[in-house]
Amino acid sequence: MYRPIHHGYIEVVIGPMYSGKSEELIRRLKRAKIAKQNVVAFKPQIDNRYSNEDVVSHSGNTINAIPISSAKEIYEHVKDNVQVVGIDEVQFFEDDIVDVAINLADQGIRVIAAGLDMDFKGEPFGPTPKLLAVAEFVDKLQAVCIVCGEPAHRTQRLINGEPARYDDPIILVGATESYEARCRKCHVIDN
Ligand code: ADP
Ligand code: ZN
Repeated sequence: MYRPIHHGYIEVVIGPMYSGKSEELIRRLKRAKIAKQNVVAFKPQIDNRYSNEDVVSHSGNTINAIPISSAKEIYEHVKDNVQVVGIDEVQFFEDDIVDVAINLADQGIRVIAAGLDMDFKGEPFGPTPKLLAVAEFVDKLQAVCIVCGEPAHRTQRLINGEPARYDDPIILVGATESYEARCRKCHVIDN
């Protein structure tokens, strides 16, 4: 795809869980590194999925990332020579991540953010929708529906193997919670 060379801009990679967002983010950041650009990646502190210091995809591909607990911390790590900033799991930040991304892009930095566009209810997730609105480039990825094999754009939450209810608490003590990629038809939310 044609991209600016001399200006900063915002790219967003969205989709459900397992759609390859982290993989795509890692791919873009690694290519920037091959091009000898100064790259720094961030992820929210709460995401300890596999590793503290890395963005890790479900297929095991990794890139080093700084865990941060607020969007503003990004400024402390972005020195004058940084050309590319990656942000994974962007849905877990507060809305001020949008202002940070705009500021960085205005300073000439390429900002690549990846994250969930919808929560398990199929509703817009955190700051991601706002980031899409201000981005130059958006790629919406699909996973594979675990039930029927069609493209999946939603994330199914399961509690003890059963579809989660709309108002089930976010933290469930003692329950086994899991997530699946599912299409519109196979995605279930019990009321
Ligand atoms: P995301 O960041 O969107 O959660 P990842 O980049 O971490 O996704 O992982 C994508 C990888 O997950 C795929 O390349 C594939 O190997 C694996 N995978 C597991 N389940 C699925 C699924 N239902 N649909 C597509 N890929 C899947
Ligand atoms: Zn399906």
